[in-house]
Amino acid sequence: MSKPTPSTEARDLRALLAAVLEALTLPYDSPDYDRRVLERAALARTTVGPALAEASADLGWNVDYLRQKLTAEEAEAAERERNRCRRCSTPFDPADTRFDGRARHGDSPWCRWCVDNCHDGGAEHVCRICDPKRYGGEGR
Ligand SMILES: [Zn+2]
Ligand SMILES: [Zn+2]
Repeated sequence: MSKPTPSTEARDLRALLAAVLEALTLPYDSPDYDRRVLERAALARTTVGPALAEASADLGWNVDYLRQKLTAEEAEAAERERNRCRRCSTPFDPADTRFDGRARHGDSPWCRWCVDNCHDGGAEHVCRICDPKRYGGEGR
């Protein structure tokens, strides 16, 4: 492994800083913000610690490593979102198929409990299932 020129090292350090910044930046309205930001801070820590301790020629490797971990974290977060109710945020439990259970209601993004709650809600009941427009569309 050749000793990097100062400019290479500066470039790699900037790339590492950019990756750390990316790790610690999540839209505040992301579901699970607190949990995700903690997870991503931990990823940044486990990358930057060794990066500081190791030869600077390995910085590029550290950057790639952190970016891979961030991509994996994003995929996991998306997967969690797909597998829980968008109204109450409870993870779906496919085994809980009671009419008011926590299984997914059909192909909807809602759990059976929430949909049952709509049916029971009476005339003035409104929620993001009954009135998605008011709640900024189905997505949230
Ligand atoms: Zn629900
Ligand atoms: Zn409702």
